[in-house]
Amino acid sequence: YNYGLPRSSTPALNKRRQGEQRICVCVRKRPLTCAESRRGEADAVTTSDRECVVINETKVALDLTQYILQHRFFFNQVFGEESSNEEVYQRTAYPLVQHMLSGGEATCFAYGQTGAGKTHTMLGSATGKPGLYELAVRDIFTHLSTSHVQNQAYVSFFEIYCGHLYDLLDHRKRLFAREDRKKAVQIAGLRTVRVESADSLLEVISQGIKERKQGTNGVNALSSRSHALLEIQLKGENLQSAGRIWFVDLAGSERASDTKDPNRQSRIEGAEINQSLLALKECIRTLDQKKQHIPFRQSKLTQVLKDSFIGDSLTCMIANISPCHLATEHTLNTLRYADRVKELTKQECLRGGNVVKIPVNTRKEIPPKKQKLVTQ
Ligand code: ADP
Ligand code: MG
Repeated sequence: YNYGLPRSSTPALNKRRQGEQRICVCVRKRPLTCAESRRGEADAVTTSDRECVVINETKVALDLTQYILQHRFFFNQVFGEESSNEEVYQRTAYPLVQHMLSGGEATCFAYGQTGAGKTHTMLGSATGKPGLYELAVRDIFTHLSTSHVQNQAYVSFFEIYCGHLYDLLDHRKRLFAREDRKKAVQIAGLRTVRVESADSLLEVISQGIKERKQGTNGVNALSSRSHALLEIQLKGENLQSAGRIWFVDLAGSERASDTKDPNRQSRIEGAEINQSLLALKECIRTLDQKKQHIPFRQSKLTQVLKDSFIGDSLTCMIANISPCHLATEHTLNTLRYADRVKELTKQECLRGGNVVKIPVNTRKEIPPKKQKLVTQ
């Protein structure tokens, strides 16, 4: 059922205090999986500090000596492999939920390469431990049941693949985003479901997830090549917006480098993902720089999230990383991206992932030179 409601800009109902941070950038390292441990994969990521993550990149010099490049990055929060979804939620999405419940606009992104833990963070673990979606939904309904204001919750869930929108709550129906005369972005035909309880909202989400999983085939799973956007909106008596939160499970960031893939479809997908992630970075940065112009038209992703980049909205990005030594290059790319999204605060001087070179005493065995053939 489509309520056909206009998707106008959320009024800034509760003005934030001056100087308060609007962007929170966090890193979450996942543990090595059983299979990785069995293979003897090395763990290249250290998270001993709450705000600092260190990547140990092993390199071989021209003289074949080994050395380690230690890349150090600083973020608002760094979660190690021991952190639970509950802990991550409390420190990332919980403040966004509170902001949304008081009428604000908030967006939570899961960024990272495929297999780094985005879906685990958003959706929960295979053993049934809830993810950010569920923890947020439970808090929203606890608030609604105790609040004297009669707000209703609405949910929509869709996917962006190759610049096209598909409704996950309506058999993947193709959708079209347009700007109306007031410059508000509308998604024509998007199914928006009114929900009365946390359980019914979670049921709607799981229907959408089932739809998303279809078409999955191993490493090339569609879910790694598309962005999934879950929107939970509160509406007051006259159906005016009374708060909104987005949860965005982004396409695998490594796909952005598929632009040179010999397979034409992968190249198109890669270019599209690259474009949307770059546009996202630019749009989030305008939140911080108080720029008048937001380059949201550069991708479908940023177009539909337009309201998230204006007003008093709050943004949280969780950059998920794999501990694997073999994934170091992608991990560094993820951290560099997250680093650019970071708000320009006193930590600015710590931007860029400063690098320390550490020699390793083991000299790599030099392969024997080819013997010259001596003719007698
Ligand atoms: P992505 O969505 O980024 O492709 P997944 O969330 O599917 O990655 O994670 C890949 C694998 O790692 C899954 O088997 C998942 O269960 C596991 N995993 C990810 N994050 C964690 C974590 N924090 N703790 C335990 N296992 C995790
Ligand atoms: Mg995933």
